[in-house]
Amino acid sequence: MSTPTKKSINNAIINAKCPQCRAGNMFKHNWWQVTKFAKFYQHCPYCNLRFDREPGFFHGAMFISYAMIVAMVTTAWFILYFVFGNPAMEVYMYTIVLLNIVLLPIFFRYSRVLYLYAFGGVKFNSQISKHSK
Ligand SMILES: [Zn+2]
Repeated sequence: MSTPTKKSINNAIINAKCPQCRAGNMFKHNWWQVTKFAKFYQHCPYCNLRFDREPGFFHGAMFISYAMIVAMVTTAWFILYFVFGNPAMEVYMYTIVLLNIVLLPIFFRYSRVLYLYAFGGVKFNSQISKHSK
C-alpha cells in the first residue's frame, strides 16, 4: 500500500489509485514492467472496493483506448506531415505501429482507470481515506 500525500482526483487518476479511497493501487506493478503491466487487483488492497464493477465491466474501456489511439495517430500524422515534410508512407506505418507498441501499457492502464472513474459509480469517501497510514 502506498500513501499519497495529496488525494486530489487528478493525482489519483495519474497514479492509478482506487476511486473510493484514492490510496490503494489498481495495478500490481508499474506500467514499465512490460510483462506485468496488465496485472490488476480484483479488489482495492486498501478499502476492498471491487474494481470490476460487474462481469465484463472493463470491456467498455476499449472505447477510451480507441479514442487514445486515434488521438495518438492523428498527432503522429500531424508531426510527420508538417514537421518532417510528408515522408514516405512506410514511415507513417512504422511510426504508428512502433508508437502503438511502446504506448500500449499506458493506453491499457489509463483507459481502465478513466473508465472506472467515469462509469464505475464510485464516489470518493474521505472517511476511508483518513485512515491512510
Ligand atoms: Zn480503495
